[in-house]
Amino acid sequence: MSNEPEITEKPSLNFIEEIIEEHNATGKYAGKVHTRFPPEPNGYLHIGHAKSICLNFTLGQKYNGLTNLRFDDTNPAAEEAEYVEAIERDVRWLGFSWDDRKFFASDYFDKLYAYAVQLIKLGKAYIDDQTQEEISQTRGNTFTAGKESPYRNRTVEENLALFERMRAGEFPEGKCVLRAKIDMASPNMHLRDPAIYRIKHAEHHRTGDKWHIYPMYDFAHCLSDSIEGITHSICTLEFEVHRPLYDWILETLGVYRPQQIEFARLNLNYTVMSKRKLLQLVNEKLVSGWDDPRMPTISGLRRRGYTPEAIRNFATKVGIAKRDNVIDISLLEFCIREHLNKVCTRIMAVLNPIKVVITNYPEGKTENLPTENNPEDENAGTRTVPFSREIWIEQDDFMENPPKGYFRLTPNGMVRLKSAYIIQCNEVVKDANGNITQLNCTYIENSKSGEDTSGLKVKGVIHWVSIAHAVEAEVRLYDRLFTDEAPDGHEDKDFKEFINPNSLTVIPNAKLEPSIANLPAGERVQFQRLGYFCVDTDSTKDKLVFNRTVGLKDSWAKEQKK
Ligand code: ATP
Ligand code: MG
Repeated sequence: MSNEPEITEKPSLNFIEEIIEEHNATGKYAGKVHTRFPPEPNGYLHIGHAKSICLNFTLGQKYNGLTNLRFDDTNPAAEEAEYVEAIERDVRWLGFSWDDRKFFASDYFDKLYAYAVQLIKLGKAYIDDQTQEEISQTRGNTFTAGKESPYRNRTVEENLALFERMRAGEFPEGKCVLRAKIDMASPNMHLRDPAIYRIKHAEHHRTGDKWHIYPMYDFAHCLSDSIEGITHSICTLEFEVHRPLYDWILETLGVYRPQQIEFARLNLNYTVMSKRKLLQLVNEKLVSGWDDPRMPTISGLRRRGYTPEAIRNFATKVGIAKRDNVIDISLLEFCIREHLNKVCTRIMAVLNPIKVVITNYPEGKTENLPTENNPEDENAGTRTVPFSREIWIEQDDFMENPPKGYFRLTPNGMVRLKSAYIIQCNEVVKDANGNITQLNCTYIENSKSGEDTSGLKVKGVIHWVSIAHAVEAEVRLYDRLFTDEAPDGHEDKDFKEFINPNSLTVIPNAKLEPSIANLPAGERVQFQRLGYFCVDTDSTKDKLVFNRTVGLKDSWAKEQKK
């Protein structure tokens, strides 16, 4: 048995599933389940979005339903086609399919316009000429009612004419807005005549310059859900207060009404997760791009070596909550380590090398020694690693003056070379400055792994790479991008002040066993004793580049046992 930490099983149904099953029992949506993932294409997706993607698509699968991918592209200024492509790539990579149901809110601009006209005709919307400032000043607050706009009682005809002129682009931005006519005294601020259309003379990535007015999120979202026949519109908690408006719009227009359900967004410590902040990191070149392996983006995690399985498993383990909470990032690390442990070949790599010469091993001789690919996987088989007279070992695996309990190589001490021989250190060679440059050792001939008749008992086993056969690679080691648990939780400090200056360490010339020479980008392996690594997208035939995905040490499992 592996020493997995015990994880309390989640109850078999989460609260969203309970709602769905109740609807199915009462026939509210005729037993149908149709969800959607509605990203705004204004940045790359992050691990929080992954949570939402897993939730929506898994519910679709579980109840034999469907899940749409819908781009919420109602704000022309911030949106770009690049983001649309990146989002599709990420959802697909996570293992989900929207089949032919890829939609854009902008597909519905004509319909949304018609709905707005209908609201005006119903006397439920009006053009307000007040400035943005006047509108927010007259909205009131939790204790006082808002003030009705002097334009609130314009006639339907006047409103229709003005709205048409807004659409035609006759007015400058900010000249007027279309507001829903609900209740300026409502205890819910979102019902105090919210703006539903505004003027924007911007190019849209799909509709070009066709439109001079764009629907607000609250108006576009509920109607897009309704148009697509969504049954359960799942969103994060901050939209709970918007739900009465969601319902009001659909009820007033007399159209099909999905059920909005809110859950707590995923928060992770030691990172930031708003696209706006991630964009700052990218624009200010504090990271190499959206897919920098230190970023909490799906593309960053992918480049770092995360697997879709690990991220989906993480989403399941986190569960669905009704209250905001912060998840420890080590749970995410636990999930990837758990998956890679099962699937990765163990190879030998030396990051900080020191030369060892085995003085009694014949010069020019090479033995190809068998070694297990993955002890966790019976079917993984074996391969051979070349052994010769000169090898690299890790600097850390030798100590001249070892403390008690140090079982690796020491002067006159013995250690086993993984899958090879026991060696003994006979001489420590130093340069003029006293730095160790070489260790001269002897090997015990009859101590070969698997056929050891030496009878020697050595406690330490270390990894090594034959110098003559070594392949060099650049290896990038990562630490957390922020030094603070909640970098964006400080009122007086900008989150960027907490950037960890040591989040990236580059080892230019690590020494690797030759079997990995032709691994393609994205391939993952375990460097024995050092962690899980994957081939970076910067890697070429002439220059291999590896990222460390995660170390071997499991801090989360330990935390759980405390
Ligand atoms: P951000 O605040 O990071 O920019 P957003 O909510 O503006 O994110 P959208 O593109 O609007 O990003 O989000 C698409 C979907 O993903 C929404 O349904 C949203 O509720 C969900 N989502 C966004 N962030 C999280 C999160 N941290 N945890 C769970 N779901 C999230
Ligand atoms: Mg948003």
